[in-house]
Amino acid sequence: MIIVTRRGVTDEEIDHIRERVEALGLRTHISRGEARTVIGCIGDEAVLREAPLLSIPGVEAVHPVMNPYKLASRLFSAEPTTIQLGDTLVGGPELIVIAGPCTVEGKEMMSQTAAGVAAAGARALRGGAFKPRTSPYSFKGMGQSGLEVLAEVRAETGLPVVTEVMDTREVELVASYADVLQVGARNMQNFTLLTEVGRLHRPVLLKRGMSATIKDLLLAAEYVMSQGNMDVILCERGIRTFETATRNTFDLAAIPVLKKETHLPVIADPSHAGGRRDLVAPLSYAAVAAGADGLMIEVHPDPETAVSDGDQSLTIPEFAEMMESLRPFVEAAGRILPRGSLTA
Ligand code: PEP
Ligand code: MN
Repeated sequence: MIIVTRRGVTDEEIDHIRERVEALGLRTHISRGEARTVIGCIGDEAVLREAPLLSIPGVEAVHPVMNPYKLASRLFSAEPTTIQLGDTLVGGPELIVIAGPCTVEGKEMMSQTAAGVAAAGARALRGGAFKPRTSPYSFKGMGQSGLEVLAEVRAETGLPVVTEVMDTREVELVASYADVLQVGARNMQNFTLLTEVGRLHRPVLLKRGMSATIKDLLLAAEYVMSQGNMDVILCERGIRTFETATRNTFDLAAIPVLKKETHLPVIADPSHAGGRRDLVAPLSYAAVAAGADGLMIEVHPDPETAVSDGDQSLTIPEFAEMMESLRPFVEAAGRILPRGSLTA
């Protein structure tokens, strides 16, 4: 931590700042300039982060030199983290595509979607059984019977399933069915939920909050990791801005920034980012070019009748077409896009 003093700071004030910092167990190093004095603080920065340093007379600014996240930081692990997903790895050479409807609506549509997306090269099936809905009057998912559908379809197709957990009271239940626990954008800073999923040995797909900074996202991952669960996949899904032409604003730059800051895998969700089916392919190409390790895409056998997010859902043939058009981008990015494993 570096403390910058205000112009004209007195020697007494500098001594007082030093005393406060040293009382917290850190050492100080003073560098006197023409107008200002800078105090370098050496020791555990986490202690200082909690201290109200700006309230000490003579202090003008405080600059951290270390990241507040440790386990999630690149410094913690030189090698990128890979996370097992079925028989593949997220963060490995393959570009992982997770596909499926927004909401699990029934067994038939899930079987149909799973077969279709697997045939086109998807490596996991998504679908919410517990849905966060903006209106309390909207359908909130099938609950446990939706989880049962996911498990049945996994048994049929071999596709691992990714599904959202919204409530600490349901973590155990959802974890007994899911291969990956999704923590949605609205819950990215639900710290008790992050702590609970951190206690499990099950990968967590952590979606960026709508108004969360990249640092907030990394600190949310840190919550999970600090409980012992290191298997966190980060997901850029668009943020809220003044723009209204798209559902959210896809923060493309977040992908290379995250890849630099953390060893964790980073995927993109172009469906929620754009909110429109015609934007899914171009945003996917951009995400892959920017270094994403994977994509999560909403696919529905009949988007017109989807209970949620039909406007942004691809049909199964559209998804298959999108996957083929993605191939040159994946290859240009030095990754592998698997061929389909089943015939639809
Ligand atoms: C979802 O994945 O269907 C979802 C609700 O996403 P988000 O949390 O990003 O809005
Ligand atoms: Mn959705």
